[in-house]
Amino acid sequence: MLKDPLDTARIRRTIERRLDTLRGEITDKLGDAALVTAGLDHNADAGDLSVAADTTTADFADARRDVEELQAGRLALARLESGDYGTCVDCGQDIPPARLLAQPFAIRCIPCQARREHAAGLHRSTL
Ligand SMILES: [Zn+2]
Repeated sequence: MLKDPLDTARIRRTIERRLDTLRGEITDKLGDAALVTAGLDHNADAGDLSVAADTTTADFADARRDVEELQAGRLALARLESGDYGTCVDCGQDIPPARLLAQPFAIRCIPCQARREHAAGLHRSTL
């Protein structure tokens, strides 16, 4: 729970801006994938199809990561509304404000996040 209402307003703005950016990126990536496939005609050869498959796979993978981040951001906003924002979901301790400013979608303190990633064998996310 954040004690400072100014911090809450600032974090809400940060989250909302990031959500807007993510929505735009998702639309762009899916649009790119659609353009690639729309550009294939009946004369497309195996090489063209292979390039299109790789391109659309990459675009979809990027869009999927953005959608996951979007979901995390919406969860963060919901937690801000409910007053749970800034409390680690694992240990219940306050998440340091510096971490929240750097990672506004964070739902765990750094030690809990590190434990979780270690347990899952993950190395990619800091959310
Ligand atoms: Zn924790």
